[in-house]
Amino acid sequence: MTPPITLALSKGRIFDETLPLLAAAGIAVLEDPEKTRKLILPTNQEGVRVVLVRATDVPTYVEYGGADLGVTGKDTLIEHGGQGLFRPLDLRIAKCHVSVAVRSDFDYRHAVHQGARLRVATKYTSIARDFFAGKGVHVDLIKLYGSMELAPLTGLADAIVDLVSTGNTLKANHLVEVERIMDISSHLVVNQAAFKLKQARLREIIGAFESAIRKD
Ligand code: AMP
Repeated sequence: MTPPITLALSKGRIFDETLPLLAAAGIAVLEDPEKTRKLILPTNQEGVRVVLVRATDVPTYVEYGGADLGVTGKDTLIEHGGQGLFRPLDLRIAKCHVSVAVRSDFDYRHAVHQGARLRVATKYTSIARDFFAGKGVHVDLIKLYGSMELAPLTGLADAIVDLVSTGNTLKANHLVEVERIMDISSHLVVNQAAFKLKQARLREIIGAFESAIRKD
């Protein structure tokens, strides 16, 4: 019997937007993650299962072989470092961008021009550090794990570095985007050892995903 294939996904946009790609590979997930408390979901194929993990844990699960493959945002991949992962495909799903945002009454250009030291709150410390270092702007980074939008409103930080999709969250909190750092989409990542050991099956899945993306 061949060992099962385990795919790590996070609930929400990544799960939802991966379903059509799985369908192209003939795989249907048999339970809805919003309706079950199960963390391991069966599929219509006995040899394939889905594990639900936090978005930031997907690269870790795949790196250490807790899952053979996973779907994760480029933002998460950069922060993780990508070690031990084979990255065969940009799936072009869950698109958004990483941006710098400030309170609408904060003069960001002036602060940067004056060489002021900016306090920047973010979950994406690697991305933020590289970006501001590249601009020669001095920053104090404050690591947060959520609700970054609150930081400039409470005086915790001058700016945030966060994911922006529609811009509605920024607008609702009187924040404005002042720099776009990079475009983000989700990537397929594969455990390097699994890719060798389960090559035939994984290649089939990767190939089906690839054809489905090309059709779009
Ligand atoms: P929006 O209001 O559409 O600009 O979405 C912004 C909020 O959703 C922020 O809190 C982001 O952290 C989060 N967000 C946007 N796009 C994504 C994504 N692709 N993956 C995870 N979180 C996202």
